[in-house]
Amino acid sequence: MTQSEVLFERAQHTIPGGVNSPVRAFKSVGGTPIFIERADGPYIFDVDGKRYIDYIGSWGPMLLGHNHPEIRQAVINAAEHGLSFGAPCPAEVDMAELVSKLVPSMEMVRMVSSGTEATMSAIRLARGYTGRNTILKFEGCYHGHADSLLVKAGSGALTLGVPNSPGVPDDFAKYTLTAEFNNLAQLESIFAEKGDDIACIIVEPVAGNMNCIPPVPGFLQGLRELCDRYGSVLIFDEVMTGFRVALGGAQQVYGVTPDITTLGKIIGGGMPVGAFGGKRDIMLHIAPTGPVYQAGTLSGNPLAMAAGLAALNAISQPGVYEALTAKTTQLIEGLQQAANRHGIPVTTNQVGGMFGLFFSSEQHITNYQQATQCDIEAFKRFFHLMLAEGVYLAPSAYEAGFISLAHTEQDLADTLAAADRSFKALATS
Ligand code: PMP
Repeated sequence: MTQSEVLFERAQHTIPGGVNSPVRAFKSVGGTPIFIERADGPYIFDVDGKRYIDYIGSWGPMLLGHNHPEIRQAVINAAEHGLSFGAPCPAEVDMAELVSKLVPSMEMVRMVSSGTEATMSAIRLARGYTGRNTILKFEGCYHGHADSLLVKAGSGALTLGVPNSPGVPDDFAKYTLTAEFNNLAQLESIFAEKGDDIACIIVEPVAGNMNCIPPVPGFLQGLRELCDRYGSVLIFDEVMTGFRVALGGAQQVYGVTPDITTLGKIIGGGMPVGAFGGKRDIMLHIAPTGPVYQAGTLSGNPLAMAAGLAALNAISQPGVYEALTAKTTQLIEGLQQAANRHGIPVTTNQVGGMFGLFFSSEQHITNYQQATQCDIEAFKRFFHLMLAEGVYLAPSAYEAGFISLAHTEQDLADTLAAADRSFKALATS
């Protein structure tokens, strides 16, 4: 038995499914999850001493690579002064100012401790601000696990085939409308019928929880126009895309300005952090300036702020996104070529440092329906072949992939050589 198998067996006695977040259990790909002992740069090392080139990056935060020296040092320095104060601290002000500078639509910012908290709070704020109850989300988009957002959600929920989770009362779910991603015509008709009741649209501007699906031209602009026409709040959930597809997020790439933005992952540099922010007059509705309640014992935690500030300062340096995008392009073009060489139908998507690999002969995958028609069996086999080769891909066909600045030319070459052998094995068996 490997050490991972021993730990997984032990874990299942006291942790449901042996994991603290479902997709980690490898349920959709089968096999035993690997337990990680340490991580450095582009690599993670399991408890059996095996090294993997990592394309998950802790599900997004590790844009600079694991265990980045500046982030680590910032956390160590902050820890010297105490771990939590439950009172305001200077780093929170620095963080709010920096976020506002990097993402100008976020005129005011509130820090929280996870992406789920950020989206949940943003939804409450949009409802409180508009005095409306109904919200609209898209099929296959995941926005964390708050009740009203676990309706036809993607990510782990999609993977496990429980899109409407038990425990979410019908009375909550009925306020959540779902529409097809990238289908503006459908949205127009939903708004024509119910627009005056819709508090907000929440969208992943590049969907990353049904693999990676960019918006079609005009889609995000269309959302903006509809929200303006009906007085609804437009929320861009940039928990994944923020600081990943560009320094200013997807809103910078596509030139569409939301009213509220949610952030997570990279903004914490690996610590548990989320944020939401937006237009000043909307944000002032939050307590204590306004009546919409929102709070957190550990919000704005000094260690988390130190890690996040170090991360954001490092990624603000010139050339970062050019390098990240070039590495990602090199990887996905190489994967596509390797698949082509062995006659395996594959389609790839990329926006900045975010990518998707679909086992499909469709040229353009634009929505949930198409994403779920991919060859999941082929993906599972490819995943395990790559894992055996020492390449750690997301253990689900419905997750976007992430590269880091720490991935070297050699890492990419090694990954592509492994992919070539894996596609070959797929083709010949
Ligand atoms: N929104 C999006 C777009 C996400 O991808 C995620 C997590 N993958 C969340 C929200 C929830 O964030 P967290 O897991 O930090 O609660």
